[in-house]
Amino acid sequence: MELLKEKIKQEGIVLEGSVLKVDTFLNHQVDAELMHEIGRTFEELFSESGVTKIMTIESSGIAPAVMTALRMRVPMVFARKRKSLTLREDLYTERVYSYTKQEESEVTVSRKFLAPSDRVLIIDDFLAHGEAALGMARIVGQAGAEVAGIGILIEKSFQSGRGKLLELGYRVESLARIASLDGGTVTFA
Ligand code: 5GP
Repeated sequence: MELLKEKIKQEGIVLEGSVLKVDTFLNHQVDAELMHEIGRTFEELFSESGVTKIMTIESSGIAPAVMTALRMRVPMVFARKRKSLTLREDLYTERVYSYTKQEESEVTVSRKFLAPSDRVLIIDDFLAHGEAALGMARIVGQAGAEVAGIGILIEKSFQSGRGKLLELGYRVESLARIASLDGGTVTFA
């Protein structure tokens, strides 16, 4: 998606450890118009996939996920990173390791928001090693529902996530694929 790539080129900052900072439009301040275009693009890509629900993880996935949900006219549910105060029996729970934060967190979704009849489109801001997307896919599996596809805004193609997800048979659509962040420069695939 050219608009997103242009924005990354203009405003992205490459940090230590192959981390891309995009807090001017996605990770802190949010460019709502860009998010709406992203929602429209995912709608086009997955229009034939029978999507009944959008799922993401708080917090940066929420903006693009809600725009996709708006376009596709389905509900959006976000997995919560902290334990909810409600009973654990009411929750689907998975552990997700973050390479960027170097910590494991528990993500939860209330059982009442996923049904076996659901076809879930997973949306996330970044795809790196695939841990977040895999955690969400496992939650969808716990509910007996199906993953309709995985939509990513920014894929770091030089890391292992895409390969892992494709190996499991998931359809992965990434709007911007980065081949390298070497030398502090963003090179697209
Ligand atoms: P994964 O689980 O695929 O290893 O990493 C994806 C998650 O880690 C995303 O949800 C995102 O929050 C975070 N992440 C991974 N790489 C980056 C990055 O380069 N920049 C930012 N801002 N977040 C990242």
